[in-house]
Amino acid sequence: MTETSKIKYQPTIKAQKFLDKVENTKYDRGMIRGLNRFLGDKLSEEMKDFYSKEELEELMSLKGTKRDVEARMPVKITNHYFQIAKNSLPLQNLIKASPQETDDLEGAPDPGKQMTYSPLEGLIHKYELGLIYVVDTCSAHCRFCYREELIARKEIKREDGTVSSKGTAKIPELVNYILEHNKVVNENGGRHPETNREKLREILMSGGDPMVLPNNKLAEWFAALADAGIESIRVGTKELAFFPDRFDHTFFDMIDNFNHSYPEVQLRMMIHFNHPDEFLKKDENGNYINNPNGGLVWIESTGRAIKELTNRNFITVINQAPFIKGINEDVDELRIMQRELRRNNVSNQYFFCGRDIVGHKAFNLNIEDAWNLLNDSQKGLSGVESTARLSITHYLGKTEVVAVTNEPIPGFPGTENGVVIFKLLRGAFDAPKKGKVAIVARNPNAIWFSGYEDRVIFDEAGLFTESMQSTSSIK
Ligand code: SF4
Repeated sequence: MTETSKIKYQPTIKAQKFLDKVENTKYDRGMIRGLNRFLGDKLSEEMKDFYSKEELEELMSLKGTKRDVEARMPVKITNHYFQIAKNSLPLQNLIKASPQETDDLEGAPDPGKQMTYSPLEGLIHKYELGLIYVVDTCSAHCRFCYREELIARKEIKREDGTVSSKGTAKIPELVNYILEHNKVVNENGGRHPETNREKLREILMSGGDPMVLPNNKLAEWFAALADAGIESIRVGTKELAFFPDRFDHTFFDMIDNFNHSYPEVQLRMMIHFNHPDEFLKKDENGNYINNPNGGLVWIESTGRAIKELTNRNFITVINQAPFIKGINEDVDELRIMQRELRRNNVSNQYFFCGRDIVGHKAFNLNIEDAWNLLNDSQKGLSGVESTARLSITHYLGKTEVVAVTNEPIPGFPGTENGVVIFKLLRGAFDAPKKGKVAIVARNPNAIWFSGYEDRVIFDEAGLFTESMQSTSSIK
Protein backbone atom coordinates (compact mmCIF):
# COMPACT_ATOMS: atom_id res chain seq x y z
CA MET A 1 0.00 0.00 0.00
CA THR A 2 1.46 3.39 -0.99
CA GLU A 3 1.47 6.41 1.31
CA THR A 4 -1.20 8.18 -0.79
CA SER A 5 -3.57 5.19 -0.70
CA LYS A 6 -3.78 5.59 3.09
CA ILE A 7 -5.00 9.16 2.69
CA LYS A 8 -8.74 9.65 3.01
CA TYR A 9 -10.65 11.69 0.46
CA GLN A 10 -11.04 15.26 1.75
CA PRO A 11 -13.91 16.92 -0.11
CA THR A 12 -13.71 20.60 -0.99
CA ILE A 13 -16.28 22.91 0.66
CA LYS A 14 -18.27 22.89 -2.58
CA ALA A 15 -18.16 19.08 -2.76
CA GLN A 16 -19.14 18.71 0.89
CA LYS A 17 -22.22 20.88 0.35
CA PHE A 18 -23.29 18.55 -2.45
CA LEU A 19 -22.42 15.39 -0.49
CA ASP A 20 -24.45 16.54 2.52
CA LYS A 21 -27.62 16.27 0.44
CA VAL A 22 -27.07 12.68 -0.73
CA GLU A 23 -29.51 10.02 0.44
CA ASN A 24 -28.67 6.31 0.37
CA THR A 25 -31.19 3.53 -0.13
CA LYS A 26 -30.78 -0.13 0.75
CA TYR A 27 -31.72 -2.30 -2.23
CA ASP A 28 -32.91 -5.87 -2.19
CA ARG A 29 -31.70 -7.38 -5.45
CA GLY A 30 -32.85 -10.88 -4.50
CA MET A 31 -29.38 -12.20 -5.25
CA ILE A 32 -28.80 -15.78 -6.32
CA ARG A 33 -25.10 -16.54 -5.68
CA GLY A 34 -23.33 -19.72 -6.70
CA LEU A 35 -24.37 -22.96 -8.38
CA ASN A 36 -25.09 -24.43 -4.95
CA ARG A 37 -28.26 -22.34 -4.86
CA PHE A 38 -29.66 -24.54 -7.63
CA LEU A 39 -29.00 -27.77 -5.74
CA GLY A 40 -31.08 -29.57 -3.11
CA ASP A 41 -34.64 -30.77 -2.67
CA LYS A 42 -36.19 -27.66 -1.24
CA LEU A 43 -36.00 -25.49 -4.34
CA SER A 44 -38.93 -23.53 -5.74
CA GLU A 45 -40.26 -24.83 -9.08
CA GLU A 46 -38.71 -21.95 -11.01
CA MET A 47 -35.28 -22.56 -9.46
CA LYS A 48 -35.56 -26.30 -10.17
CA ASP A 49 -36.14 -25.77 -13.87
CA PHE A 50 -33.42 -23.20 -14.53
CA TYR A 51 -30.63 -25.81 -14.82
CA SER A 52 -31.42 -29.37 -15.94
CA LYS A 53 -30.28 -32.24 -13.70
CA GLU A 54 -27.70 -33.24 -16.34
CA GLU A 55 -26.34 -29.70 -16.63
CA LEU A 56 -25.88 -29.46 -12.88
CA GLU A 57 -24.26 -32.89 -12.63
CA GLU A 58 -21.72 -32.01 -15.29
CA LEU A 59 -20.97 -28.61 -13.78
CA MET A 60 -20.55 -30.02 -10.28
CA SER A 61 -18.23 -32.75 -11.59
CA LEU A 62 -15.84 -29.97 -12.69
CA LYS A 63 -15.65 -28.46 -9.18
CA GLY A 64 -12.12 -28.21 -7.88
CA THR A 65 -10.60 -29.19 -11.25
CA LYS A 66 -8.83 -26.94 -13.75
CA ARG A 67 -12.15 -26.71 -15.58
CA ASP A 68 -14.14 -25.39 -12.60
CA VAL A 69 -16.51 -22.85 -14.17
CA GLU A 70 -17.05 -20.94 -10.94
CA ALA A 71 -13.32 -20.45 -10.46
CA ARG A 72 -13.30 -18.84 -13.93
CA MET A 73 -16.34 -16.69 -13.16
CA PRO A 74 -18.56 -16.86 -10.05
CA VAL A 75 -22.28 -17.41 -10.67
CA LYS A 76 -24.41 -14.44 -9.66
CA ILE A 77 -27.92 -13.41 -10.80
CA THR A 78 -30.40 -10.80 -9.62
CA ASN A 79 -34.00 -11.87 -9.16
CA HIS A 80 -35.09 -9.32 -11.79
CA TYR A 81 -32.81 -10.85 -14.42
CA PHE A 82 -33.67 -14.40 -13.34
CA GLN A 83 -37.37 -13.69 -13.88
CA ILE A 84 -36.90 -12.43 -17.45
CA ALA A 85 -34.24 -15.03 -18.29
CA LYS A 86 -36.67 -17.85 -17.39
CA ASN A 87 -38.47 -17.06 -20.65
CA SER A 88 -35.49 -16.15 -22.81
CA LEU A 89 -32.87 -18.59 -24.08
CA PRO A 90 -30.37 -15.81 -25.05
CA LEU A 91 -30.57 -14.37 -21.53
CA GLN A 92 -30.11 -17.81 -20.02
CA ASN A 93 -26.98 -18.19 -22.14
CA LEU A 94 -25.74 -14.86 -20.77
CA ILE A 95 -26.15 -15.83 -17.13
CA LYS A 96 -26.05 -19.62 -16.86
CA ALA A 97 -22.71 -21.36 -16.34
CA SER A 98 -21.89 -23.95 -18.97
CA PRO A 99 -19.16 -26.64 -19.11
CA GLN A 100 -18.09 -25.35 -22.57
CA GLU A 101 -16.68 -22.22 -20.91
CA THR A 102 -13.65 -24.13 -19.70
CA ASP A 103 -13.25 -26.58 -22.63
CA ASP A 104 -10.42 -24.45 -23.99
CA LEU A 105 -8.84 -22.03 -21.55
CA GLU A 106 -6.66 -20.28 -24.09
CA GLY A 107 -6.70 -16.50 -23.74
CA ALA A 108 -4.91 -13.47 -22.36
CA PRO A 109 -4.77 -13.22 -18.55
CA ASP A 110 -4.76 -9.43 -19.01
CA PRO A 111 -6.95 -8.78 -22.09
CA GLY A 112 -6.00 -5.68 -24.08
CA LYS A 113 -2.68 -5.64 -22.14
CA GLN A 114 -4.32 -3.17 -19.81
CA MET A 115 -1.46 -3.26 -17.31
CA THR A 116 0.74 -1.68 -19.99
CA TYR A 117 -1.44 1.40 -19.78
CA SER A 118 -1.90 1.42 -16.00
CA PRO A 119 0.28 4.07 -14.35
CA LEU A 120 -1.71 3.75 -11.12
CA GLU A 121 -3.65 0.94 -9.45
CA GLY A 122 -7.18 0.82 -10.88
CA LEU A 123 -6.49 3.32 -13.70
CA ILE A 124 -6.08 2.56 -17.40
CA HIS A 125 -4.90 5.72 -19.14
CA LYS A 126 -5.37 5.70 -22.90
CA TYR A 127 -5.93 8.67 -25.21
CA GLU A 128 -7.51 11.65 -23.41
CA LEU A 129 -9.63 9.15 -21.46
CA GLY A 130 -8.98 7.39 -18.20
CA LEU A 131 -10.82 4.21 -17.29
CA ILE A 132 -11.03 3.53 -13.58
CA TYR A 133 -12.09 0.43 -11.72
CA VAL A 134 -14.21 1.70 -8.86
CA VAL A 135 -15.56 -1.68 -7.78
CA ASP A 136 -14.80 -5.30 -8.65
CA THR A 137 -18.26 -6.80 -8.95
CA CYS A 138 -21.62 -6.32 -10.70
CA SER A 139 -25.19 -7.06 -9.67
CA ALA A 140 -25.01 -10.20 -11.79
CA HIS A 141 -22.19 -11.81 -13.75
CA CYS A 142 -22.22 -12.23 -17.52
CA ARG A 143 -20.52 -15.52 -18.31
CA PHE A 144 -18.59 -13.88 -21.17
CA CYS A 145 -17.37 -11.02 -18.97
CA TYR A 146 -14.36 -9.27 -20.50
CA ARG A 147 -13.29 -8.22 -16.99
CA GLU A 148 -13.32 -11.77 -15.68
CA GLU A 149 -9.78 -11.37 -14.36
CA LEU A 150 -10.91 -8.49 -12.12
CA ILE A 151 -14.24 -9.94 -11.05
CA ALA A 152 -12.88 -13.43 -10.34
CA ARG A 153 -9.89 -11.72 -8.61
CA LYS A 154 -7.28 -13.58 -10.61
CA GLU A 155 -3.60 -12.99 -10.17
CA ILE A 156 -1.96 -11.43 -13.20
CA LYS A 157 1.57 -10.46 -14.15
CA ARG A 158 2.30 -6.77 -13.94
CA GLU A 159 4.71 -4.64 -15.93
CA ASP A 160 7.33 -4.84 -13.17
CA GLY A 161 7.15 -8.65 -13.20
CA THR A 162 5.27 -9.00 -9.90
CA VAL A 163 2.09 -11.05 -9.75
CA SER A 164 -1.08 -9.98 -7.94
CA SER A 165 -4.79 -9.40 -8.52
CA LYS A 166 -6.00 -6.08 -9.95
CA GLY A 167 -7.13 -3.50 -7.42
CA THR A 168 -9.59 -0.63 -7.58
CA ALA A 169 -8.75 3.07 -7.85
CA LYS A 170 -8.66 5.37 -4.82
CA ILE A 171 -9.90 8.95 -5.00
CA PRO A 172 -6.88 10.86 -3.54
CA GLU A 173 -4.34 9.01 -5.70
CA LEU A 174 -6.39 9.41 -8.84
CA VAL A 175 -7.05 13.10 -8.26
CA ASN A 176 -3.31 13.70 -7.74
CA TYR A 177 -2.54 11.83 -10.96
CA ILE A 178 -5.07 13.85 -13.00
CA LEU A 179 -3.89 17.18 -11.59
CA GLU A 180 -0.22 16.35 -12.18
CA HIS A 181 -0.80 14.99 -15.71
CA ASN A 182 -2.87 17.99 -16.74
CA LYS A 183 -0.37 20.43 -15.21
CA VAL A 184 2.49 18.91 -17.23
CA VAL A 185 0.34 18.91 -20.40
CA ASN A 186 -0.54 22.53 -19.83
CA GLU A 187 3.09 23.54 -19.30
CA ASN A 188 4.09 21.75 -22.50
CA GLY A 189 1.72 23.36 -24.96
CA GLY A 190 -1.09 20.81 -24.78
CA ARG A 191 0.82 17.50 -24.96
CA HIS A 192 2.54 15.38 -22.38
CA PRO A 193 6.27 15.39 -23.20
CA GLU A 194 6.71 11.64 -22.57
CA THR A 195 3.52 10.10 -23.96
CA ASN A 196 2.29 12.85 -26.30
CA ARG A 197 -1.14 12.48 -24.71
CA GLU A 198 -3.50 15.42 -24.33
CA LYS A 199 -5.25 16.65 -21.21
CA LEU A 200 -7.24 14.01 -19.33
CA ARG A 201 -10.75 15.25 -20.05
CA GLU A 202 -12.92 12.20 -19.54
CA ILE A 203 -13.04 9.48 -16.94
CA LEU A 204 -14.96 6.25 -17.47
CA MET A 205 -16.04 4.79 -14.16
CA SER A 206 -16.11 1.07 -14.60
CA GLY A 207 -15.22 -2.15 -12.85
CA GLY A 208 -17.37 -4.13 -12.17
CA ASP A 209 -20.42 -1.93 -12.27
CA PRO A 210 -20.30 1.46 -10.50
CA MET A 211 -24.08 1.29 -10.01
CA VAL A 212 -23.61 -1.34 -7.29
CA LEU A 213 -22.04 1.41 -5.17
CA PRO A 214 -24.30 3.39 -2.85
CA ASN A 215 -25.23 6.94 -3.86
CA ASN A 216 -22.77 8.55 -1.43
CA LYS A 217 -19.81 6.67 -2.94
CA LEU A 218 -20.88 7.55 -6.47
CA ALA A 219 -21.33 11.15 -5.37
CA GLU A 220 -17.82 11.27 -3.86
CA TRP A 221 -16.33 10.07 -7.13
CA PHE A 222 -18.39 12.56 -9.17
CA ALA A 223 -17.42 15.52 -6.96
CA ALA A 224 -13.73 14.56 -6.78
CA LEU A 225 -13.48 14.11 -10.55
CA ALA A 226 -15.30 17.38 -11.19
CA ASP A 227 -13.03 19.24 -8.74
CA ALA A 228 -10.00 17.74 -10.53
CA GLY A 229 -11.16 19.37 -13.78
CA ILE A 230 -12.70 16.35 -15.53
CA GLU A 231 -15.21 17.56 -18.13
CA SER A 232 -17.17 14.35 -18.76
CA ILE A 233 -17.79 11.46 -16.45
CA ARG A 234 -18.85 8.21 -18.02
CA VAL A 235 -20.56 5.51 -16.00
CA GLY A 236 -20.29 2.04 -17.57
CA THR A 237 -23.25 0.01 -16.34
CA LYS A 238 -25.41 -3.02 -17.05
CA GLU A 239 -27.66 -2.25 -14.10
CA LEU A 240 -30.55 -1.26 -16.39
CA ALA A 241 -30.67 -4.92 -17.41
CA PHE A 242 -29.81 -6.49 -14.04
CA PHE A 243 -31.64 -4.27 -11.56
CA PRO A 244 -33.36 -1.22 -13.09
CA ASP A 245 -34.95 -0.26 -9.74
CA ARG A 246 -31.47 0.97 -8.72
CA PHE A 247 -32.35 4.07 -10.78
CA ASP A 248 -34.70 5.38 -8.11
CA HIS A 249 -35.55 8.90 -6.95
CA THR A 250 -32.59 9.03 -4.52
CA PHE A 251 -30.20 8.37 -7.42
CA PHE A 252 -31.87 10.99 -9.60
CA ASP A 253 -31.92 13.50 -6.71
CA MET A 254 -28.20 12.91 -6.29
CA ILE A 255 -27.33 13.47 -9.96
CA ASP A 256 -29.64 16.50 -10.18
CA ASN A 257 -27.85 18.02 -7.17
CA PHE A 258 -24.53 17.14 -8.79
CA ASN A 259 -25.56 18.96 -11.94
CA HIS A 260 -26.68 21.92 -9.86
CA SER A 261 -23.26 22.08 -8.16
CA TYR A 262 -21.16 21.22 -11.24
CA PRO A 263 -23.23 22.28 -14.29
CA GLU A 264 -20.14 22.22 -16.53
CA VAL A 265 -19.67 18.44 -16.14
CA GLN A 266 -21.45 16.08 -18.53
CA LEU A 267 -22.58 12.61 -17.44
CA ARG A 268 -22.47 9.85 -20.03
CA MET A 269 -24.26 6.63 -19.15
CA MET A 270 -22.57 3.87 -21.13
CA ILE A 271 -25.25 1.23 -20.88
CA HIS A 272 -25.02 -2.41 -21.91
CA PHE A 273 -27.96 -4.21 -23.46
CA ASN A 274 -26.98 -7.32 -25.39
CA HIS A 275 -30.47 -8.39 -26.40
CA PRO A 276 -33.93 -6.79 -26.64
CA ASP A 277 -35.35 -9.36 -24.18
CA GLU A 278 -33.44 -7.42 -21.51
CA PHE A 279 -35.76 -4.42 -21.85
CA LEU A 280 -38.85 -5.37 -23.89
CA LYS A 281 -41.96 -7.04 -22.51
CA LYS A 282 -43.22 -10.22 -24.17
CA ASP A 283 -46.73 -11.66 -24.40
CA GLU A 284 -47.64 -15.23 -23.41
CA ASN A 285 -46.54 -16.43 -26.87
CA GLY A 286 -43.12 -14.90 -26.45
CA ASN A 287 -43.73 -12.02 -28.88
CA TYR A 288 -42.86 -8.39 -28.25
CA ILE A 289 -45.94 -6.25 -27.71
CA ASN A 290 -46.79 -3.34 -29.99
CA ASN A 291 -47.31 -0.06 -28.23
CA PRO A 292 -50.50 1.60 -29.55
CA ASN A 293 -48.54 4.89 -29.59
CA GLY A 294 -45.77 3.41 -31.71
CA GLY A 295 -42.76 1.23 -30.96
CA LEU A 296 -42.82 -1.68 -28.52
CA VAL A 297 -43.77 -2.04 -24.88
CA TRP A 298 -40.84 -1.95 -22.43
CA ILE A 299 -40.42 -3.72 -19.13
CA GLU A 300 -41.89 -1.09 -16.83
CA SER A 301 -38.99 -0.46 -14.44
CA THR A 302 -36.44 -0.38 -17.28
CA GLY A 303 -38.57 1.97 -19.40
CA ARG A 304 -39.07 4.29 -16.44
CA ALA A 305 -35.32 4.42 -15.71
CA ILE A 306 -34.45 5.13 -19.37
CA LYS A 307 -37.04 7.90 -19.54
CA GLU A 308 -35.68 9.53 -16.38
CA LEU A 309 -32.12 9.37 -17.69
CA THR A 310 -32.85 10.63 -21.20
CA ASN A 311 -35.07 13.48 -19.90
CA ARG A 312 -32.04 15.19 -18.40
CA ASN A 313 -30.06 17.37 -20.79
CA PHE A 314 -26.75 16.91 -18.97
CA ILE A 315 -26.88 13.15 -19.51
CA THR A 316 -26.17 11.23 -22.72
CA VAL A 317 -27.23 7.59 -22.85
CA ILE A 318 -25.21 5.31 -25.13
CA ASN A 319 -25.46 1.55 -25.67
CA GLN A 320 -22.44 -0.68 -26.31
CA ALA A 321 -22.37 -4.47 -26.26
CA PRO A 322 -20.24 -7.36 -27.41
CA PHE A 323 -21.53 -9.94 -29.88
CA ILE A 324 -21.57 -13.29 -28.10
CA LYS A 325 -22.39 -16.78 -29.38
CA GLY A 326 -25.90 -17.89 -28.45
CA ILE A 327 -26.83 -14.47 -27.09
CA ASN A 328 -27.12 -11.90 -29.86
CA GLU A 329 -26.67 -13.64 -33.18
CA ASP A 330 -30.11 -12.97 -34.61
CA VAL A 331 -30.34 -10.26 -37.27
CA ASP A 332 -34.01 -9.43 -36.63
CA GLU A 333 -33.57 -9.18 -32.86
CA LEU A 334 -30.58 -6.89 -33.33
CA ARG A 335 -32.55 -4.71 -35.73
CA ILE A 336 -35.38 -4.41 -33.18
CA MET A 337 -32.88 -3.57 -30.45
CA GLN A 338 -31.17 -0.77 -32.37
CA ARG A 339 -34.46 0.72 -33.56
CA GLU A 340 -36.13 0.61 -30.17
CA LEU A 341 -33.14 2.06 -28.33
CA ARG A 342 -32.85 4.96 -30.78
CA ARG A 343 -36.58 5.57 -30.53
CA ASN A 344 -36.11 6.00 -26.79
CA ASN A 345 -33.20 8.44 -27.12
CA VAL A 346 -30.41 5.94 -26.57
CA SER A 347 -27.52 6.09 -29.08
CA ASN A 348 -26.17 2.87 -30.56
CA GLN A 349 -22.41 3.34 -30.50
CA TYR A 350 -20.48 0.08 -30.72
CA PHE A 351 -20.89 -3.61 -30.97
CA PHE A 352 -17.69 -5.36 -30.00
CA CYS A 353 -15.96 -8.48 -31.16
CA GLY A 354 -15.34 -10.38 -27.94
CA ARG A 355 -11.92 -9.89 -26.37
CA ASP A 356 -9.26 -12.57 -26.11
CA ILE A 357 -10.13 -13.32 -22.48
CA VAL A 358 -9.35 -16.71 -20.94
CA GLY A 359 -11.88 -19.13 -22.45
CA HIS A 360 -12.87 -16.70 -25.24
CA LYS A 361 -13.41 -19.46 -27.82
CA ALA A 362 -16.65 -20.44 -26.07
CA PHE A 363 -18.05 -16.93 -26.49
CA ASN A 364 -16.57 -15.04 -29.42
CA LEU A 365 -18.15 -14.94 -32.85
CA ASN A 366 -15.86 -15.03 -35.87
CA ILE A 367 -14.93 -11.49 -36.82
CA GLU A 368 -16.36 -11.78 -40.32
CA ASP A 369 -19.63 -13.29 -39.05
CA ALA A 370 -19.89 -10.45 -36.54
CA TRP A 371 -19.45 -7.84 -39.28
CA ASN A 372 -22.08 -9.53 -41.49
CA LEU A 373 -24.44 -9.78 -38.53
CA LEU A 374 -24.23 -6.07 -37.79
CA ASN A 375 -24.39 -5.12 -41.46
CA ASP A 376 -27.48 -7.29 -42.07
CA SER A 377 -29.17 -6.06 -38.90
CA GLN A 378 -28.83 -2.49 -40.14
CA LYS A 379 -30.55 -3.21 -43.46
CA GLY A 380 -33.88 -1.43 -43.19
CA LEU A 381 -32.78 0.90 -40.39
CA SER A 382 -32.56 4.62 -40.98
CA GLY A 383 -29.21 6.40 -40.84
CA VAL A 384 -30.02 7.70 -37.36
CA GLU A 385 -30.81 4.20 -36.12
CA SER A 386 -27.81 2.47 -37.69
CA THR A 387 -24.94 4.40 -36.12
CA ALA A 388 -23.36 1.42 -34.32
CA ARG A 389 -19.97 0.29 -35.59
CA LEU A 390 -18.21 -3.00 -35.08
CA SER A 391 -15.14 -2.51 -32.91
CA ILE A 392 -12.35 -4.83 -31.88
CA THR A 393 -9.89 -3.67 -29.27
CA HIS A 394 -6.33 -4.01 -30.55
CA TYR A 395 -3.43 -3.51 -28.16
CA LEU A 396 -2.66 -0.34 -30.12
CA GLY A 397 -6.15 1.10 -29.64
CA LYS A 398 -9.79 0.81 -30.60
CA THR A 399 -10.15 -0.55 -34.12
CA GLU A 400 -13.18 -0.68 -36.39
CA VAL A 401 -13.96 -3.63 -38.64
CA VAL A 402 -14.99 -1.43 -41.55
CA ALA A 403 -15.86 -3.94 -44.26
CA VAL A 404 -15.77 -7.57 -45.29
CA THR A 405 -15.86 -8.13 -49.07
CA ASN A 406 -16.70 -11.23 -51.06
CA GLU A 407 -15.15 -10.65 -54.48
CA PRO A 408 -11.49 -10.78 -55.52
CA ILE A 409 -9.78 -7.45 -56.17
CA PRO A 410 -8.52 -7.74 -59.77
CA GLY A 411 -4.73 -7.73 -59.96
CA PHE A 412 -4.18 -8.35 -56.22
CA PRO A 413 -3.14 -11.91 -55.43
CA GLY A 414 -4.38 -13.19 -52.08
CA THR A 415 -7.71 -11.41 -52.38
CA GLU A 416 -9.48 -14.29 -54.20
CA ASN A 417 -12.03 -14.72 -51.38
CA GLY A 418 -12.34 -11.04 -50.56
CA VAL A 419 -10.73 -8.91 -47.88
CA VAL A 420 -11.34 -7.49 -44.42
CA ILE A 421 -10.61 -3.81 -43.80
CA PHE A 422 -9.70 -2.60 -40.31
CA LYS A 423 -9.40 1.05 -39.34
CA LEU A 424 -7.66 2.33 -36.20
CA LEU A 425 -10.17 4.59 -34.46
CA ARG A 426 -7.74 5.81 -31.84
CA GLY A 427 -4.25 5.08 -30.61
CA ALA A 428 -3.62 4.31 -26.96
CA PHE A 429 -1.24 7.24 -26.63
CA ASP A 430 -1.88 9.95 -29.19
CA ALA A 431 -3.78 10.37 -32.42
CA PRO A 432 -1.47 10.41 -35.48
CA LYS A 433 -2.54 6.93 -36.54
CA LYS A 434 -6.27 7.63 -36.31
CA GLY A 435 -7.92 6.64 -39.56
CA LYS A 436 -5.06 4.40 -40.72
CA VAL A 437 -6.18 1.08 -42.14
CA ALA A 438 -5.04 -2.50 -42.49
CA ILE A 439 -6.31 -4.81 -45.24
CA VAL A 440 -6.08 -8.57 -44.90
CA ALA A 441 -7.25 -11.52 -46.96
CA ARG A 442 -10.32 -13.14 -45.48
CA ASN A 443 -10.23 -15.92 -42.92
CA PRO A 444 -13.79 -16.86 -41.96
CA ASN A 445 -12.51 -18.71 -38.90
CA ALA A 446 -10.61 -15.77 -37.39
CA ILE A 447 -11.82 -14.69 -33.96
CA TRP A 448 -8.87 -12.44 -33.17
CA PHE A 449 -6.19 -10.46 -35.05
CA SER A 450 -3.88 -13.46 -34.83
CA GLY A 451 -6.15 -15.22 -37.37
CA TYR A 452 -4.95 -12.80 -40.05
CA GLU A 453 -1.23 -12.62 -39.28
CA ASP A 454 -0.29 -14.77 -42.28
CA ARG A 455 -2.47 -12.89 -44.78
CA VAL A 456 -1.71 -9.19 -44.41
CA ILE A 457 -1.98 -7.27 -47.69
CA PHE A 458 -1.55 -3.70 -46.50
CA ASP A 459 -0.94 -2.39 -42.98
CA GLU A 460 -0.37 1.34 -42.60
CA ALA A 461 -1.97 1.12 -39.11
CA GLY A 462 0.69 -1.29 -37.83
CA LEU A 463 -1.91 -3.71 -36.47
CA PHE A 464 0.05 -6.76 -37.60
CA THR A 465 3.59 -5.56 -37.13
CA GLU A 466 3.64 -3.59 -33.89
CA SER A 467 1.42 -6.12 -32.13
CA MET A 468 4.21 -8.64 -32.48
CA GLN A 469 6.63 -6.46 -30.52
CA SER A 470 7.00 -6.50 -26.77
CA THR A 471 4.29 -4.33 -25.28
CA SER A 472 6.78 -2.07 -23.53
CA SER A 473 7.93 -0.82 -26.92
CA ILE A 474 4.45 0.25 -27.96
CA LYS A 475 4.92 3.91 -27.17
S1 SF4 B 1 -21.78 -6.21 -16.60
FE1 SF4 B 1 -19.81 -5.98 -17.63
S2 SF4 B 1 -18.27 -6.09 -16.02
FE2 SF4 B 1 -20.20 -6.89 -15.17
S3 SF4 B 1 -20.13 -9.09 -15.48
FE3 SF4 B 1 -21.16 -8.24 -17.27
S4 SF4 B 1 -19.55 -7.87 -18.78
FE4 SF4 B 1 -18.55 -8.16 -16.77
